[in-house]
This record gives sequence, C-alpha cells and structure tokens, in this order.
Amino acid sequence: MIKGTKLYSILKMKCPQCQVGNFFVAHPYKLSTMGEVKKRCSKCNQKFELETGFYQGSYYVSYGLGVALFIAVVVLNYMFIETITPTSLMVSFVLALILLAPIMYALSKSIWATMFIKYDKNAITKYQKILEDDSRIKS
Ligand SMILES: [Zn+2]
Repeated sequence: MIKGTKLYSILKMKCPQCQVGNFFVAHPYKLSTMGEVKKRCSKCNQKFELETGFYQGSYYVSYGLGVALFIAVVVLNYMFIETITPTSLMVSFVLALILLAPIMYALSKSIWATMFIKYDKNAITKYQKILEDDSRIKS
C-alpha cells in the first residue's frame, strides 16, 4: 500500500497526518476500548478530536458502510446460495453486521478523520523541532 494516500491511513488505522502513530487506543476487536480514538498522535502530536463531538459526523460514514455491507451480503448470497429467501438474507446480513460491527465502527471514524486531516510527510520532523526549541528555551 502506498504511503501518503488517504487509503493508507484508513486501512492501516494510522494518524492521518504522519501515518506513523496509531489512531486508535487498541485493536477494534478489543471490545473494552472499541473504536476509542487517541487524544493526540504520539509521533506528530496531531489532535484527533478536532472539535467537541467531532466523531458524530462519522455516523454518516457508518451508514454508508452499512449500505455497502448489505449490498455485499446480497451479492454473496446470490453467488453461493441456490434458493434465497428473505429470511436467509436477513439472517446473513444481521450475522455479518454483528461480526463486522467493531471494524465498521473503527473504519467510519478513521475515514471521517482522514477527510479533515491532511497528510504531511514532514509532520514528525516539524514536531521534533518544536520540542527541541522548547527544551532550548527551558535550559
Ligand atoms: Zn501523527
């Protein structure tokens, strides 16, 4: 996967600015911290919650992902099951939704943040320079 693209930070769940630091507190399937975003990037200090309630907008992304999942489930049903009933379709969709809920929740937040935070390949160097200047002033 090419570094510097939005897809890289979304799928690798990295900081949208430096693409090195982790975006989430833990893996999406660790249910106790499911979808919990870090306050700041540990590598470039990018703030992840740009404003209060920032991630409420990710519900729209989540809705889109849900529709995409439903279409995928319908296509897979047509490909692998001979007689499709509304019940089998419903059961397979609900099952897919339950199994993929943590990853969809995380992806929606990751996509939402990536829409607003730009990639900067020098982000870490810039942050380290700020820290260096800071320590020079203090000493
Ligand atoms: Zn970062």
